[in-house]
Amino acid sequence: MNLFTIDTGLFKLDGGAMFGVVPKTMWQKLNHPDENNMCTWAMRCLLIQDADRLILIDNGIGNKQDDKFFGHYYLHGDDTLDKSLAKHGFSRDDITDVFLTHLHFDHCGGSIIRKNDQLIPAFKNAIYWSNEKHWDWAINPNDREKASFLKDNILPIQESGQLKFIETKDGIDFTGEIKIRFAYGHTDAMMLPQIHHKGKTIIYMADLLPSAAHIPLPYIMAYDMFPLKTLIEKKSFLDEAAANDYLLYFEHDPLIECCSLQVTERGVRMLDSFKLSEI
Ligand SMILES: [Zn+2]
Repeated sequence: MNLFTIDTGLFKLDGGAMFGVVPKTMWQKLNHPDENNMCTWAMRCLLIQDADRLILIDNGIGNKQDDKFFGHYYLHGDDTLDKSLAKHGFSRDDITDVFLTHLHFDHCGGSIIRKNDQLIPAFKNAIYWSNEKHWDWAINPNDREKASFLKDNILPIQESGQLKFIETKDGIDFTGEIKIRFAYGHTDAMMLPQIHHKGKTIIYMADLLPSAAHIPLPYIMAYDMFPLKTLIEKKSFLDEAAANDYLLYFEHDPLIECCSLQVTERGVRMLDSFKLSEI
C-alpha cells in the first residue's frame, strides 16, 4: 500500500469561528490571522494506492462555484487537485474510490464539475462513498449548517449512479488495511479513515481535529453542531491515540501534515510533527 499527500490549495476561515470559545489572545499565536481575522487553512486530501484500488479521501473545494462564493474563502497557494495527482503519476480517471468524510463544501467540492452547463462527476470511474445517515442529514440541512452543504456538490453524485453507502458501524472495514471510525459532534456521522500502514496506525482527522492547534480539549470549532459531543469524542480519541501511538494526519493544518502524541500533565499534546512521506 502507498500513501500520497494530495494538497488541493489553501483557503481562509475566520479564526474565531475555527477556535470556538478560545480567546484570540491565545489562538492567534497558533495560527496568525490577517487584518480581517481570517486564518489560512489547508485542504489536504489523501491518496491511497491499495492493490488495484486508488482511493482518494476527500477532494477539496473544487472550482464550480461563482466568484461571490469563492470571495468568502480567499483561495490561494499553487496546489490543485489535478496538479497534486499528476505529481504522483495519476489523473482523476485513475481514481477507483472517492471517500467523502462528510459533505461540507471544503471536503467534497471537487466531487462534481461543471461541463457544458451540466454537473457531472469529476471522477468518472470511481465509486463515491458516503453513509446514509450523513447523506440524509446533508440533503435536509438545518439552517445553521445549510451554508456548508451545497446541493451542487451533493445531489449530482446520487444522480450519477456512482454513490454507495457505508454501514454506520464503528470500526467497519473499508479495505483490509482501512477501517472507518464515526464521529457525531462536528456533523452527523462524519467518517474518519483509520489506516494500517508500515506497522503504524494513521488516522485521517477530517474535522474532528482540523489542525494540530486543535489538540487541547477546549479548542473546538464554532462550526460544530454538537460541541459537547465533540468534546467527548476528542477526549476518548486522544486517550486511545496516545496510548496506542497512533499518528494523526491533518486535513486543514496549514503547516503540519502529521504528528505523534504524548501524554503530559496538561493532557494529550503533540510530540513530533512530520510529513506523511517520512513515515
Ligand atoms: Zn466540516
